[in-house]
Amino acid sequence: MLERRVIAVEGVVQGVGFRPYVHRLAAANALRGFVRNDAGGVLIDVEGDAAGVDEFCRLLPIAPPALATIARMRMEPAAPRSYDGFRIAASDAESRDRVTATVPPDAATCDACLAELCDPTNRRFEHPFITCTECGPRFTIVRDTPFDRERTTMAAFPLCARCRQEYEDPRDRRFHAESIACPECGPTLVAHGAAPGSAHSTGRSALDMAVTRLRAGEIVAIKALGGFHLACDATDEAAVQRLRQRKRRPAKPLAVMVRDARAADVLCELSPDERAALESPARPVVLLMRRADANVASSVAPHARTLGVMLPSTPLHHLLLAALDRPLVMTSGNQGGEPVVTNDADAIAALGNVADLFLSHDREIAVRCDDSVVQVVAGETRPIRRSRGYVPHALTLPFAVPVPVLAVGGHLKNTICVAHGSAAHLSAHVGDLDSAAARAAMRDAIEATLRSAGVRPGAIAHDLHPDYASTRVAEAFASEEGIGQRVPVQHHHAHVAACLAELGLREPVIGVVFDGAGLGTDGAIWGGEFLVVDGARFTRCGHLAYVPLPGGDAAARRPWRSAAAHLARVDAGASTRSAARPLAIGEDEWLLVQQLIARPANTPRTSSVGRLFDAVASLLGLCHVASYEGEAAMCLEAASGRTSARAYPVSLGGGARWMAEPARIIEAVVADLARGRDRAEIAAAFHGAVRDLVVLGCERIREETGLATVVLTGGVFMNARLTEGAHEALVARRFRVLLPRLVPCNDGGLSLGQAYVAACALQEDPCA
Ligand code: ZN
Ligand code: ZN
Ligand code: FE
Repeated sequence: MLERRVIAVEGVVQGVGFRPYVHRLAAANALRGFVRNDAGGVLIDVEGDAAGVDEFCRLLPIAPPALATIARMRMEPAAPRSYDGFRIAASDAESRDRVTATVPPDAATCDACLAELCDPTNRRFEHPFITCTECGPRFTIVRDTPFDRERTTMAAFPLCARCRQEYEDPRDRRFHAESIACPECGPTLVAHGAAPGSAHSTGRSALDMAVTRLRAGEIVAIKALGGFHLACDATDEAAVQRLRQRKRRPAKPLAVMVRDARAADVLCELSPDERAALESPARPVVLLMRRADANVASSVAPHARTLGVMLPSTPLHHLLLAALDRPLVMTSGNQGGEPVVTNDADAIAALGNVADLFLSHDREIAVRCDDSVVQVVAGETRPIRRSRGYVPHALTLPFAVPVPVLAVGGHLKNTICVAHGSAAHLSAHVGDLDSAAARAAMRDAIEATLRSAGVRPGAIAHDLHPDYASTRVAEAFASEEGIGQRVPVQHHHAHVAACLAELGLREPVIGVVFDGAGLGTDGAIWGGEFLVVDGARFTRCGHLAYVPLPGGDAAARRPWRSAAAHLARVDAGASTRSAARPLAIGEDEWLLVQQLIARPANTPRTSSVGRLFDAVASLLGLCHVASYEGEAAMCLEAASGRTSARAYPVSLGGGARWMAEPARIIEAVVADLARGRDRAEIAAAFHGAVRDLVVLGCERIREETGLATVVLTGGVFMNARLTEGAHEALVARRFRVLLPRLVPCNDGGLSLGQAYVAACALQEDPCA
């Protein structure tokens, strides 16, 4: 009997070879009809004998293409239409005003394409733009949805006859692969200098030129998927130092790219999870424990025990690494924290004084997207920066939001989130909002995220801090668009909420938030918080005792100031206090800071655990002045190495809102320094003390509330030693411990948390 069924599939189903997959499955079951992309995902209309239709529907969700994710499938029977054959129909462009289909993230070159890239008999031998339905650029080339070639930056490259044949042949691996190209019809590689009219070459000779220059220790700007990279020979100390100098990045670790996992294994210790992360289609930078004899210049990651390593993500990177066969520094193409550049004109303007050569091409980057960074901590791969390879994959919320919510994130490591229905669309990493260029990039990210969510916002969520650039943008955006509903969200509340959002939870939890800085409801700078979070509400149960923050935000880059502030609170003699003055700090600044500390009324106070790490790192002489946020904490973690030491004793004060007193820890550190104890042991004992504070705080809250689920979050938990220690100790005491896994525990996750809190608030009170 003839049967017809209409099937709507939602999820990541466009641009991942889903329609060819449907076509093959239909053919295998002798069905007729069509499949097409539409605004919601993919629409399938099949008819044939009943057994064939049933079998088709049974198999459809079982083995979709590797990059596809089916979020939902709806099937409805329909009256037969006597279709003639099965075809892939044109997209339904009319419904573009209600676009919800998700564009897939960019995916690294697949094994089949890689084999062809290295096969001299293949027509795409050494073609830097080889892709198929399983791999290649996606999100970063999309101008609009649905995801079809005509709405990508590949629209500028009409298919040649042979590519068209592959594109139209359902048996071909490149059947409807929107980004395919070949040497005949695809983009062209070009190498040139920064000066107009400088030597210029294309194709294989452009690649050769880049290889020669890199081998000679020069710096090459390379157009990658979501922006330019700056590359140099990672084994060449002089080259790396030159790059640091020109890029104005004195100390922050640089990522390196190596050929393959085997080459990564030579530099670093590699667990199975870490290898899987390295080789995943997202190709993130993976933080790995470096081997003592790793052959990379010491200035690649000074003071760090880890190395950020990634594998080639594009055919171009594969070709370069194969030719050079050595680790290359591969860092964002920007200067001094500005957004990564995405087009040739900007690249020459911004990087003309940094790069000796530009290796570029004529495929445009439609959306900026930095490299992602992940770390395996407490048995899971967790993002430090969620960007290329993950964005624009939407996260699923545990509820539907009443109106679309735009959340603008924090001031540092900014990201944007748009929540719509039960989906949360998180932007790529925007970065720190100190420069006008970064703030402009943030506006771009807002529009790109709204576009990919297919909505305009009905409410805006932002941080409590009135001076965050993101808060200002939220205010401006709300008045421009006439959005009446603004929901300010406390920073650490948002941190915990981000974790609840990604795990799909809507229940009260204990939230331990240790981070650098976030404005509290009492005007102090919080950052060592024990909260109970319940949707739109939170209670502050306890926190680290307040310590002066001499100079406010400026103290974050001057760990010695935190050391001075903490020292002033302990029973240390005047000689100990003045001994804490770093040599490089002048008398005037030292005296000023002492005055600020002595006049608490005029100096901000903080409960920040990040600043406590700063203080101890400075006392140990590891880092007095930081060139990037978190440098001191990283030095302290690195100094602890794998040393074990008994933790310094800690205790909590009493009261309805109790305090954890850091003074005892500082006293112990000072005493150990005076007796000349090994710094690795002091650092280890300190990490143990902070871990024990987490445990004590959670036990206290469990006694008071009966809650036993703990969320550990905030930037301090990027510290693997602390996180693993706290996780293990809490699990041993029968807590259920949750850590963010899909979004960063640092401020990169704030926008998601803000959206979650705003959604909860609007559900409870739609007129909030
Ligand atoms: Zn491929
Ligand atoms: Zn072609
Ligand atoms: Fe934070």
